[in-house]
Amino acid sequence: MKQISTVLGKISEAELGIVLPHEHIFCYFEYFQAMLGARYLDKETLVRASAKHLREIKEAYGLGTIVDCTPINLGRDLDVLKRVSEESEVHVISAAGFYYTEEAVLDLFSEEAITEILLTDVERSRAGVLKFAVEAETMSKLSEKLLVAICSVQKETALPLIIHTNAKNQNGRAVLQAVLAHGVSPKALTLGHLSDTDDLDYVTELAKIGCYLGFDRIYKSSRAEYYAQKAEHIRTLCKRGFADQLLLSHDGLTFNGLHENAAIREDNPYALIFERLLPVLQNELSEQTIDRLLTQNPQNMLLCQ
Ligand SMILES: [Zn+2]
Repeated sequence: MKQISTVLGKISEAELGIVLPHEHIFCYFEYFQAMLGARYLDKETLVRASAKHLREIKEAYGLGTIVDCTPINLGRDLDVLKRVSEESEVHVISAAGFYYTEEAVLDLFSEEAITEILLTDVERSRAGVLKFAVEAETMSKLSEKLLVAICSVQKETALPLIIHTNAKNQNGRAVLQAVLAHGVSPKALTLGHLSDTDDLDYVTELAKIGCYLGFDRIYKSSRAEYYAQKAEHIRTLCKRGFADQLLLSHDGLTFNGLHENAAIREDNPYALIFERLLPVLQNELSEQTIDRLLTQNPQNMLLCQ
């Protein structure tokens, strides 16, 4: 049986359970931490809070695993991830790669050097997924270089590649073509944040290539219509034949240090799918399909199958 790398070591597919395939314990900038210390973030409080959130979802809904999609330049911290996993008893899978806030200094590095750096990072961070991000409508030269490097790392490691795309400017088309052109199989690829759009024809166009579809931004809303609409989109995509490719997640964070008023969240950022979306979906989809969305699809994604 294939093994999956988690922050606490390798586990078997059977141990994954229900998977939230795109979450974050936290994102932050180390230089703010160096400048502001605990005024910015107290990591002890963060570990306790995020472990509590995950344990609650494990106990109430059987959560087994989260994929922490925080790459190094959003502050991935292996020590924090390990402690959260130990305290919550939820498996945590870490990510290697770069966010779209790519460092300008990488302009000075060759594609081969960046590939080598990323391969070393995969090893040292026990990464179970690769992360890449394109936010702008068209890719910069640096972004194109990083994309080639991350595709090389994907082919070398056979790890799944999760790409942040912008569903509003629909850059997923170009990103998908570029990744396929560099030899990455659609089975190894997740196009992220497709739940940000209501344009299901766009999602369908991408889905036809066979990649995974990140329906991974279920946000907090007090409006019942929001969850009804997301459920309707999921049902439509299932009816169009893409039930095997849909991945549900929140893109939730216990601490989002990218904002000036960042604070550790006391409400649970990993609960909305279970508390608000599933009750609607359960009226529309079979138990078997819901199990596929929560368990089989993310497990297959993690194994690139
Ligand atoms: Zn994210």
